[in-house]
Amino acid sequence: MKLLRIPVGIYAANCYIMYSETEKEGIVVDPGGDVDDILNLINKKEINIKYILLTHGHGDHIGGLVELKNILKVPVGIHEDDSFMLKDGDKNLSSQMAIGSVELEPDILLKDKDVLEFGEEKAEIIHTPGHTRGGICIKVKDTIITGDTLFAGSIGRTDLPGGDYDTIIRSIKEKLMIYEDYVKIYPGHGLSSTIGNERKGNPFLK
Ligand SMILES: [Zn+2]
Ligand SMILES: [Zn+2]
Repeated sequence: MKLLRIPVGIYAANCYIMYSETEKEGIVVDPGGDVDDILNLINKKEINIKYILLTHGHGDHIGGLVELKNILKVPVGIHEDDSFMLKDGDKNLSSQMAIGSVELEPDILLKDKDVLEFGEEKAEIIHTPGHTRGGICIKVKDTIITGDTLFAGSIGRTDLPGGDYDTIIRSIKEKLMIYEDYVKIYPGHGLSSTIGNERKGNPFLK
């Protein structure tokens, strides 16, 4: 499995492309903007995208969603508890952002433990509420995309609608810290880390 990171949009949300090198099938996670950059990479690597997945329903992660879906014509998946945000530019906060209101009807409502396949790879959905109610992490082998749940040295904010501090801490401890130290994490903003580094050094998990 190969992973590409593209920081996109004015909020520098990380868009990720995960793909199978042998079968050239992949997924796009959180297309927050800069659709041309995302498409250039997909075309250069000749990846056949099967799904667009969203770690949660916030505007900075969906700014390029409508444009990308119109071009790729693939299903969009979001956790069932965040789907109401995707349909409403006020609820997903995009209407207050420079990107302008983004609204879309999702194709797939995801749940904890769902598995989506691309090539020979399996993407497992891990429901991690706390930043939003329907926040997810996406695990492929020893790699986890953590959205705005867990960052390198920090955690997602919990002061926005649907956020809750105790819930995000419980999600991280019970759903992510169960993995081995060597498992890599790729957050929704900033650089990557490992489960081990966060277990040792993340001040929110003491
Ligand atoms: Zn967010
Ligand atoms: Zn974000």
